[in-house]
Amino acid sequence: ACMNDNLDLECIDLVKRFGAFTAVDGVSLSAPRGSFFSILGPSGCGKTTLLRMIAGFQSPDAGDIRIKGRSVLGVAPNRRNVNMIFQHLALFPMMTVAENVAYGLQCHGTPKAEIGPKVAAALARVDLPDAGPKRIDQLSGGQKQRIAIARCLVLEPDLLLLDEPLGALDLKLREHMKVELKQLQQKIGTTFVYITHDQSEALVMSDQVAVMNHGRFEQIGSPQELYYNPRTAFVAGFVGDANRWRGRVEAGDAKSAKAITGDGIALTAATAGDPLSAGDEVEIFVRPESISLTLDEKGVADLDNRLSGQVENLLFNGANSTVQVRDGQTGGEVMVRMPQTAEFANLAHGAPVYLGWNNDQAKCFPAGEDIPSSGEE
Ligand code: ATP
Repeated sequence: ACMNDNLDLECIDLVKRFGAFTAVDGVSLSAPRGSFFSILGPSGCGKTTLLRMIAGFQSPDAGDIRIKGRSVLGVAPNRRNVNMIFQHLALFPMMTVAENVAYGLQCHGTPKAEIGPKVAAALARVDLPDAGPKRIDQLSGGQKQRIAIARCLVLEPDLLLLDEPLGALDLKLREHMKVELKQLQQKIGTTFVYITHDQSEALVMSDQVAVMNHGRFEQIGSPQELYYNPRTAFVAGFVGDANRWRGRVEAGDAKSAKAITGDGIALTAATAGDPLSAGDEVEIFVRPESISLTLDEKGVADLDNRLSGQVENLLFNGANSTVQVRDGQTGGEVMVRMPQTAEFANLAHGAPVYLGWNNDQAKCFPAGEDIPSSGEE
């Protein structure tokens, strides 16, 4: 068969059923060599099942998995050149760092003389060259992460599979490790396949993200593509923050649609998925940073969509703060994100404000199911 040399991993129409339930429902992906590929989705969407099939712990009911261009169907996990890192890193606490890193090599029967240099090289690659003699419990959470990675790298895997490895860390360390993992992956050049329910992790670290829902991929794209050009309501709601309105289309075509919300306001938005026509139930999404906020009505007069209301909450957050505005007409809440300008300094609880945005900053999709919030748990 013709294979693409440049791909470390391909999944082709993979299906996994548990009895009558289909956990993975025909997913396909390709991860180029050296890429950071994330699978992002809510709890229960099938991420772990997919990863376990790639690792070989579970066999698909249909489809194919190719690693470096060769099908691995029927190949046992320990004969696939992949390693998996779990949330609980499964380091051996009673052993030293060097013993932990050497463990896999010993299992593979690597000659003794080669083990020392390989362990030293792996520790150097994760920037912990002197950690070898330390005990695992003498390491910080972030250092443990890196040792877990070194323990895999020493085996020179084609793929590193990571199952929510930051899930057990506290928020601050998680923020730090996001950046560190990304830099580490770029430096070592091994392809990472990373599963997470946290959209901010996926956005920061990944070259490509597959957004998964009910066993299917809704969209695969770069973080920028998913954020700016979501193709479904699910992706628009799951990736990044957004204001959402539900409504019914009054007039629409392939490019844009005008909809009347349940509260009776008219909004116009770019159609991002299938063309829409009158009567369709839709959801409109507008990013908080796409909304202009002014104290003077003239400030938004030129914008396509306009609302007015009162400041409900001012959430100071350094350079970019969030203003929650109570829409005067509908009573709904609108979230605006704005830089620390003089305009923001003049805002106070209850202040009357005017909001506006252009049609192309709003996206309109056929209404989907309710979208679980992503990230914070
Ligand atoms: P989480 O983030 O909560 O781990 P997930 O996206 O990884 O979720 P999976 O663990 O892949 O989801 O599970 C997907 C669905 O398949 C779930 O509804 C789960 O209950 C079901 N499932 C997983 N493994 C089995 C199994 N061995 N037998 C029966 N059902 C299973």
